[in-house]
Amino acid sequence: LPELVTREDIRGDLQTHSTYSDGAFSIEEMVQGAIELGYEYLAITDHSKRVTVANGLDEKRLAEQIEYIERLNEKYPDFKILKSVEVDILEDGSLDLPDDVLKELDIVLCSIHYNRNLSREKQTERVLRAMDNPHFNILAHPTGRLIGSREAYEIDIYRVMEEAAKRGCFLEINSHPERLDLTDTNAKMAKELGLKVPISTDAHTIDNLNNIRHGVSQARRGWLEKRDVLNTYPWKELQALLKR
Ligand SMILES: [Zn+2]
Repeated sequence: LPELVTREDIRGDLQTHSTYSDGAFSIEEMVQGAIELGYEYLAITDHSKRVTVANGLDEKRLAEQIEYIERLNEKYPDFKILKSVEVDILEDGSLDLPDDVLKELDIVLCSIHYNRNLSREKQTERVLRAMDNPHFNILAHPTGRLIGSREAYEIDIYRVMEEAAKRGCFLEINSHPERLDLTDTNAKMAKELGLKVPISTDAHTIDNLNNIRHGVSQARRGWLEKRDVLNTYPWKELQALLKR
């Protein structure tokens, strides 16, 4: 066995939600939770407007959040709050927010929440088209499965990974106990393609940040080492890895 990634290697969480969308705690409370865990950075990835049930952000509210995070970063000089969003991939592969807002962010997560029932070919093309957007960084919960209640949608995950590697994009391991998506075998596939994998919690509460251990276990089952995991790198190195 290789020397597998551990919980202690994780320097930050790259998917979390706040009261700006459907999270239960304020950005500052989430930041304090992350500091408690010994993290160096935290991405605030609230939903975009398409997800109306989650009070998703339009361009105006996201711009307000960006400004707020910039001010909050001054209050926490030893910690980095990453300006981010979980933007919906629309049915035609376009993103739910315009480029001039996305370009202000440190990291852009993209995900599918609607139109899950497309054919394998159409779903794959949809994601590849989204990845053509130069602001696309991470595909969140890449197959959409919910353990015990919803199958993964039809998608050619190998092709998506190959193209992600070419474009400098990434696919996450979502640590939520019902998701664990990527699967262990998909995580190993990513490693074999030379793709680093972020492990994120998708936390909607402070306590959810602890779910990171489930994601780390998933990564270990996929034989990922510290260097294979995106959020084991300090922010400056991570920032360079995100450059497309
Ligand atoms: Zn999501």
